[in-house]
Amino acid sequence: MPVHLLQEKISSSYTTTTSTTAPPSGGLQNGGEKLEKTIDDLGEDIRPEMKEDIHDPSYQDEEGPPPKLEYVWRNIILMGLLHVGALYGLTLVPTCKFYTWLWVYLYSILSGLGITAGAHRLWSHRTYKARLPLRVFLIIADTMALQNDVYEWARDHRAHHKFSETHADPHNSYHGFFFSHVGWLLVRKHPAVKEKGGLLDMSDLKAEKLVMFQRKYYKPASLLMCFILPTLVPWYCWGETFQHSLYVGAFLRNTVVLNITWLVNSVSHTCGYRPYDKNINPGENALISLLTLGEGFHNYHHSFPQDYSASEYRWSLNFTTFFIDCMAAIGLAYDRKKVSKAAILARIKRTGDGSYKSG
Ligand SMILES: [Zn+2]
Ligand SMILES: [Zn+2]
Repeated sequence: MPVHLLQEKISSSYTTTTSTTAPPSGGLQNGGEKLEKTIDDLGEDIRPEMKEDIHDPSYQDEEGPPPKLEYVWRNIILMGLLHVGALYGLTLVPTCKFYTWLWVYLYSILSGLGITAGAHRLWSHRTYKARLPLRVFLIIADTMALQNDVYEWARDHRAHHKFSETHADPHNSYHGFFFSHVGWLLVRKHPAVKEKGGLLDMSDLKAEKLVMFQRKYYKPASLLMCFILPTLVPWYCWGETFQHSLYVGAFLRNTVVLNITWLVNSVSHTCGYRPYDKNINPGENALISLLTLGEGFHNYHHSFPQDYSASEYRWSLNFTTFFIDCMAAIGLAYDRKKVSKAAILARIKRTGDGSYKSG
């Protein structure tokens, strides 16, 4: 079957909207006209159950100097050791067995999907629904990635969208490239992150037993999935040396996936065109999309966080969307939310930077 027919077959069950009706007034009193317009553009009726990731322009930083950064030395030392181990692992890559390369590559893709299709598009944004076998797969894959448990990841991420580029954004890009990349994990959270993050509605995740189970056992589970298993498998199964297994299979792989994920917070919030909204920092970046399995369409994603593809498009530089569509084809994913072309074009016309190329 030709690819475009397969795409159409798989995409036939989308939820889309062309709605531009006025949003309900409840909860919008503080934002004024600007917030109402934002939600209006978003075509809010395609995902009525989820509002905590929608940008709230009514929230502004308080005047005055920011509080002094408080270093978390435990994190600095552990992250430093991981990166030193990864650098040593880099020197061992040429002498790895072929199956070790394959293992590292597949493990990286799986852990990446745990973040993109799981922690991000399913649990943070609720852009589609997943049946239990898929959710179990995604939470295991997420545990391979060493990026905090899903609950914490989603709370930080919802705050990142809702209070973008303010002190309440955990990786506020106005604090600089290094801070938004990794620095934010090495210091105490800004009081505004704790305050506003603590007020977010996380009841959907609290009610999900699988997510809370992972949270409860996250430390031993991540130790097993990030370090022990990826070291033992090459060592036992195809006789790789312990050194290669540990430094390449565990340290290097983990470090590479972490840094690629962080690029979305650093590079994507610094450069790229802004065809959907020129008033926000996130930009579109094809290279980041390729590296992150489809998470580099960041101007679109911050403009329309409810779109399951995190992009106007579907399979273009977007392995995560391809994966979700495959899961939908076998009945494990459903109710994929897709913003309508009409709503996208209206937004481009109103707030785009003029770089949009149709077709
Ligand atoms: Zn997001
Ligand atoms: Zn972002």
